Amino acid sequence: MDVIEPPAPQQDEPQHTCYRHKHIKTELSCGRCGRYLCHKCVVLGAAGPRCRDCARQSISLRPGAVVYEAKTGVLSLLRQPYGWYIAIVVLGFLARMGCSMREDAERAREIQMVEAQQRAQKGGPPPTDAPGPNAP
Ligand SMILES: [Zn+2]
Ligand SMILES: [Zn+2]
Repeated sequence: MDVIEPPAPQQDEPQHTCYRHKHIKTELSCGRCGRYLCHKCVVLGAAGPRCRDCARQSISLRPGAVVYEAKTGVLSLLRQPYGWYIAIVVLGFLARMGCSMREDAERAREIQMVEAQQRAQKGGPPPTDAPGPNAP
């Protein structure tokens, strides 16, 4: 017997209102003080959604905390009706950071390969066209 249950009605309606705009419903909240923010009031930085007060205060950021908060911020954003739009903005920022980190890793690997090649060349016969110490 295949009984296909109808999907339960989802309560996606935001239950909270922006702390500044009481008529705007939102589920987006400041990751620091927890106040609910509409998309006009939210300030998106590397650390995730923030209210304007907290965005002004969080000048000194620890990289580890930023990565953690960005991750949790993105996860909470994806639950918002308009979260995908904001998530794309945040992910774009993170992607740019990730790309530069990947470039660094690639450069490091290239340097290691060149080092290995040079070490292999030193072990083998010396190149004949290399200028000696008495070359003009
Ligand atoms: Zn805040
Ligand atoms: Zn607002």
